[in-house]
Amino acid sequence: MSLPQRRLAVPVLVGGVTVGGTAPIVVQSMTNTDTKDVNATVAQVADLVRAGSELVRVTVNEKEAAAAVPRIRDALAAMNIHVPLVGDFHFNGHKLLKDEPACAEALAKMRINPGNVGRGSKRDPQFAEMIEIACRYQKPVRIGVNWGSLDQDLLTRLMEENAARTIPWEAMEVVREAIVVSAIESAQRAEELGLAHSAIIISAKVSGVQDLIAIYRSLASRCDYPLHLGLTEAGMGSKGIVGSSAALGVLLQEGIGDTIRISLTPEPGGDRTREVIVAQELLQTMGFRAFTPMVIACPGCGRTTSTYFQQLAQSIQSHLRHRMPEWRKSHVGVEAMTVAVMGCVVNGPGESKHANIGISLPGTGERPIAPVYEDGEKTVTLKGERIAQEFQDLVEAYVVRRFARRDLGKTP
Ligand code: SF4
Repeated sequence: MSLPQRRLAVPVLVGGVTVGGTAPIVVQSMTNTDTKDVNATVAQVADLVRAGSELVRVTVNEKEAAAAVPRIRDALAAMNIHVPLVGDFHFNGHKLLKDEPACAEALAKMRINPGNVGRGSKRDPQFAEMIEIACRYQKPVRIGVNWGSLDQDLLTRLMEENAARTIPWEAMEVVREAIVVSAIESAQRAEELGLAHSAIIISAKVSGVQDLIAIYRSLASRCDYPLHLGLTEAGMGSKGIVGSSAALGVLLQEGIGDTIRISLTPEPGGDRTREVIVAQELLQTMGFRAFTPMVIACPGCGRTTSTYFQQLAQSIQSHLRHRMPEWRKSHVGVEAMTVAVMGCVVNGPGESKHANIGISLPGTGERPIAPVYEDGEKTVTLKGERIAQEFQDLVEAYVVRRFARRDLGKTP
């Protein structure tokens, strides 16, 4: 598969994870626990990491939260979880970092929102204080602009410049430009204060798909900092997933983006790891990375009047996710496996042949048999009550046979 050429950003080391350069596009997430609740935050970070998050951001909004960060880092380390933690700072970050130096030391990266580091005469010194602390502890910084908290002084300046144009831009164009300028000027200012060029990542998030694409295209052409992609306030459920995928898919296809976060609003009581799974699935379906074997399932139609094949597709998907943490350690390349679960004879055998392993279930009125294909060849035909369990057993056997054990070296 030929993939689009990535824009080559200066690589930035965040903890042990490289963002930018030729490193794989990094999946990150953010907790929604109260950071000062150490147990809850540790539990959620652990869940996010187990789901595959490679960086995890936590809110640092008050003294108790800042004091909790090193304890969270230590509790995770005791669980053998060494994920880089990113601190999210707004308004009082300069003060928190100064009062709780252990927080700065425990973090792998700091996120600074240039629109929220103080107003007027306070803005520059507070920004400088945070950058000086980042320099002192040798931590990279994400300059994270968000249009909900855009630097109003900058916006006013650009609006005034625009008014003086012979043909003024549309207001939204000026806002987009202000977002880009805020990110780049803040990064340049951080460098003037001593932060290394290779210690800066940029994001510039908005909630509109077309706006996000335009802003990141502009950023990509005007700097070589790594870019953190995300559609902010993407929303709940399918709307959030579709919006994020549409925006990020276009940018990734243009080679733009070094790390991604999918900002989903969870359902009440919903699972925070969803944002990690969606980010992984976006990268995997586009062919950039492989995380977990993919199930290829047909949508079903009038030929599948029972829910049997839906249940089988769901149970196989769950089984693959459940088994992946162990398979990842034991078998080389298993994350790229494809498993087809198809509803009838129309496309079932063809799609199953294209997958590593696939099953074509009987549609309504068809003979109650389910041929299984492995590497394009029909290997066995299942029938009876135990098709689901037998197919799962075949998938297990296929993994063992097809993907070499890590301790044995190369794939056969
Ligand atoms: S494979 Fe068969 S059941 Fe599935 S959508 Fe196509 S025709 Fe319908």
